Amino acid sequence: MLNSKGVRFDGAGGGLPTLTADDLNAATSFCNPTGLNMLKVRICGDDSEAHTAFKSIYSDVQKIAKRWRSTEKEARIKALVQLAMFEANKTPVCPACKGRKFNRFHKPCTPCKATGKYIIKNSLRARALSVSHSTYTRIWERRLIEVLQLISDKENQALTQIRKKIGH
Ligand SMILES: [Zn+2]
Repeated sequence: MLNSKGVRFDGAGGGLPTLTADDLNAATSFCNPTGLNMLKVRICGDDSEAHTAFKSIYSDVQKIAKRWRSTEKEARIKALVQLAMFEANKTPVCPACKGRKFNRFHKPCTPCKATGKYIIKNSLRARALSVSHSTYTRIWERRLIEVLQLISDKENQALTQIRKKIGH
C-alpha cells in the first residue's frame, strides 16, 4: 500500500507498519545527497559513506572558497573539509577519562575540564590545516564555522525531506 506521500508501507496485521528497504530508499531517494551521506556516516556509523560525503562536501566548499582568497591551496581546503567532517561526525569523548569526567584518582578530569568531552584545541586545528596559530584564528576559524554550518544545513535539509516523505 502507498501512503499519501507515495511511500510504500506494508502493514503487518494492522500493527506497526513494516518498514522495508524499498520504503527507506523511496523516502531518501530525492533528499539532499550530501546531507544524506553525512547522516549515514554520523547516525548510522556507516564509514563507507565517508568518502562520498567528503567528495560532495568538498565540491560545495570549492564553491564557497571562490569567495576566499583565490590562491588557497587545494590541499588546505581538503584538510578543512576533513577537519569539519571530523568535528561534525564524531561523538567526541575525552580520551583521558573516556567520558567519565573524573580521572582514576576520582578527581575532575583536567584535559576535558570535567565535561567528558574531547575538546579540540585551536592549536590542533591549526596543525591539521598546516597554518600558524594566528593565521588560524585570523582566517581559518570562520571558514571552519562556515563549513560546519554548511554540513549542518545539508543534514537538516535531508532530514526535513525524509520526514516529509515518511509522513512525520
Ligand atoms: Zn576527561
